[in-house]
Amino acid sequence: THFGFQQVPVAEKQKRVAEVFSSVARRYDVMNDLMSMGVHRLWKRFVIDLAGVRPGERVLDVAGGTGDLTREFAKQVGPRGQVVLSDINAAMLGEGRRRLIDEGVVGLPVLQANAEKLPFADRSFDCVTIGFGLRNVTDKDAALRSMLRVLKPGGRLLVLEFSKPLNAGLSKIYDQYSFKLLPLMGRFVANDADSYRYLAESIRMHPDQGTLKGMMEAAGFERCQVYNLTGGIVAVHRGFRL
Ligand code: SAM
Repeated sequence: THFGFQQVPVAEKQKRVAEVFSSVARRYDVMNDLMSMGVHRLWKRFVIDLAGVRPGERVLDVAGGTGDLTREFAKQVGPRGQVVLSDINAAMLGEGRRRLIDEGVVGLPVLQANAEKLPFADRSFDCVTIGFGLRNVTDKDAALRSMLRVLKPGGRLLVLEFSKPLNAGLSKIYDQYSFKLLPLMGRFVANDADSYRYLAESIRMHPDQGTLKGMMEAAGFERCQVYNLTGGIVAVHRGFRL
């Protein structure tokens, strides 16, 4: 069954996204490792390096979930800087908070917020990141504008997201993997085939490299650049507020 997200009303998509992430929250980290065969760690490493966060900076991790990016940034900003973990989903944030505390990262603000309407002051962050989050957001243009608004002049946004494989051969293998194997793994490992089917479908619906770059420019980002990872299965988009 295909959900056909483009046809479903806005509130409906938001509800499904909420159900999916509430349902996967507890197993989210294990499934991430399993389904990406650990490669998500390398994709995240790339974003962390590209972000180039310096001591004293303020960083906002939007749709931060269980806090993989947040945790690294927290080490980099040091005592004078600050990282804020935010996500729309309370179950995901609960897991994130628990893991941060487990790993000794304390005193970090954790905030439930919708990327489309971020509850932060204008020009208050040096760096904003959204990792594997944008494709779940209903109004992506609103989210891009909202992330631009909270950036300081000179600040940067990094979007890490699934994208479009660059060659047809890879694309075929990837289709087989994500439409056949992913839901099976979801079913047998997490007993939740629907959530993992949603995952595969949301990836297909997501704008490709060029489209997303255009959306960032339309939202007001400048010097936008795309970095393809793993043959375009994943891409990092970076843009600046100037
Ligand atoms: N950034 C983490 C990572 O890379 O592991 C989590 C990514 S997880 C695949 C996607 C997250 O996006 C979920 O935690 C979900 O709750 C969140 N999300 C979905 N829609 C959102 C929205 N409109 N605003 C903020 N977060 C949202």
